[in-house]
Amino acid sequence: MTARIIDGKDFSATVRTKVADHVTRLKADYDVTPGLAVIQVGTDPASQVYVRNKGRQTVEAGMNSCQHNLDADTSEADLLMLVEQLNRDPAVHGILVQLPLPVHLNESVVINAIAPEKDVDGFHISNVGLLATGQRSIIPCTPLGCLMLLREHHGALGGMNAVVVGRSNIVGKPMANLLLKDNCTITIAHSRTKDLEAVCRRADILVVAVGRPGMITGDYVREGATVIDVGINRIRHPDDPEKTKLAGDVHFASVAAKAGAITPVPGGVGPMTIACLLANTITACCRMNGLAEPEGLTV
Ligand code: NDP
Repeated sequence: MTARIIDGKDFSATVRTKVADHVTRLKADYDVTPGLAVIQVGTDPASQVYVRNKGRQTVEAGMNSCQHNLDADTSEADLLMLVEQLNRDPAVHGILVQLPLPVHLNESVVINAIAPEKDVDGFHISNVGLLATGQRSIIPCTPLGCLMLLREHHGALGGMNAVVVGRSNIVGKPMANLLLKDNCTITIAHSRTKDLEAVCRRADILVVAVGRPGMITGDYVREGATVIDVGINRIRHPDDPEKTKLAGDVHFASVAAKAGAITPVPGGVGPMTIACLLANTITACCRMNGLAEPEGLTV
């Protein structure tokens, strides 16, 4: 079998267009413009690229974007004061603190200081608890993007066997909760799982988020399964040792030869993450203003 490519770049453009159309309607009908505030502490180059991209795409969608770049030695008290100020600002509907934070700052204290209704990353403990108990919440962007791709490809997911490899709080656990909410039968695998290959081969849907380039080969995949590769790893370029390239956690060639469908890296889950951040911002804005939420931008 040769897998169909699930094109996240293409689908994320559809999501961004939907967001932009709804922003236009909010402005015209209610004089409301969704606003996203992003806080970065320090000058980590990868974070700077992510923050810049988020700002650019927010503006392209017609929303207000404000970025707060704080010095690496900013105190926790000062950071919390800024979060509190943004919590109170009615023009700000989404607040995102770019992770990782410098080590002297306690990430969970900072994330849990964000007003849950503005927590567009979906990492606040209230949103985590709401998702885990199947209630309406703000959903973490990467798992939300994966679910949108799966629904787009399969329609209803009910009754399918889903295996999620990885149990992090930002990807693996929320992904499993979302698939459970969509009536899949879930297995969460991790570094202590016995006979991971056999566990993965039971999957109709295999979501991989381990942070190990090319770890999941064709031997882990059932014929015809759908494989979602969340991994983003920078590796040395095979043809030019001076260069690097991005690689997923899935060994693309051997898995694509067996799977029914697969997301590529780059161009799969990655572009969906920022699109879902925009989707979460407009969802938060609508909820805060008591307005109808756009269809298909959350679950
Ligand atoms: P974490 O390091 O937080 O978690 C990795 C998980 O993989 C852990 O649960 C770990 O198990 C498990 N794991 C590691 N090695 C193995 C192994 N050999 N066998 C089975 N399980 C293993 O990573 P994240 O969840 O934050 O990220 C995972 C990947 O997704 C990374 O490549 C990251 O860059 C990417 N990512 C991509 C995003 C996107 O926008 N597309 C967004 C976020 C992440 P244990 O718990 O037992 O240690």
